[in-house]
Amino acid sequence: MPIIDCHVHLNYYSNIQKIKRIPSLKQRLTELLQTMSNNNIDYALILTSYKFDSERPSTSQIINILKNKDYKLGIVAGFTIDNHTNEYFKKCKEWLKDGIIKGIKLYCGYEYYYPYDRKYQKIYDLCIEYKVPVMIHTGDTFSTTSKVRFAHPLNIDDIAVDNPELIIIMCHIGNPWLLDCQEILYKNKNVYADISGLVIGNFTLNDQKNYTYKIKALLRYVDMPHRLLYGSDWPISNMESYIKFVDKLKLNKQTRDLLLFKNSSNVFRL
Ligand SMILES: [Zn+2]
Repeated sequence: MPIIDCHVHLNYYSNIQKIKRIPSLKQRLTELLQTMSNNNIDYALILTSYKFDSERPSTSQIINILKNKDYKLGIVAGFTIDNHTNEYFKKCKEWLKDGIIKGIKLYCGYEYYYPYDRKYQKIYDLCIEYKVPVMIHTGDTFSTTSKVRFAHPLNIDDIAVDNPELIIIMCHIGNPWLLDCQEILYKNKNVYADISGLVIGNFTLNDQKNYTYKIKALLRYVDMPHRLLYGSDWPISNMESYIKFVDKLKLNKQTRDLLLFKNSSNVFRL
């Protein structure tokens, strides 16, 4: 069964990738493709960021660099209330219409709005119209200026209830609030969660122990094998360490296939 990584970035993170010169977008893409091939990852979704600058390529830049190539890569467009323009919103609509992007990613916590803020509703309406998922950051943030109350998984309940046709993916299973994430998944059949970004770099032995216990508990809960998606958050998390972590969970074939392939394939209609 092929493997889909539903959560990677082509951003450069100066605080963890301690390289002197910022690699070009082309170099980063080459590295992604090489890392995917080394780890037998068949398809990945590139998520663009909450701001676009020299370290964080824009959605248009990613679209351009992938154009006319048959890389096994898809794009999910980052969107923020504070940093978007009307033109960008219109482009997102066109890209969705043309199947160029596979969903939209929101960065609650990184920007100070709850997911149920009315200002996001136009994105939810767009996702419903084009039957694509909205991915929402939940849990701890990779930035000290973020505010985590906006990223708490319980906030997802409001939009899940108010938009029953909207497919929602909680990124990072709301880590460390896995129980809250579990309840939101249990209660709302239109919500999924990706397991990306649980560690920076490699899983240590302690991480392995902690998260094995937690993920297995989550998977044992009602219907959860159908609701979790595999994602790494590369290059923040190490792709090899991530897939090895999943191997060590020793999941039965059905659960493994759902987590690594089928759920993403269904939700993103790949
Ligand atoms: Zn991420």
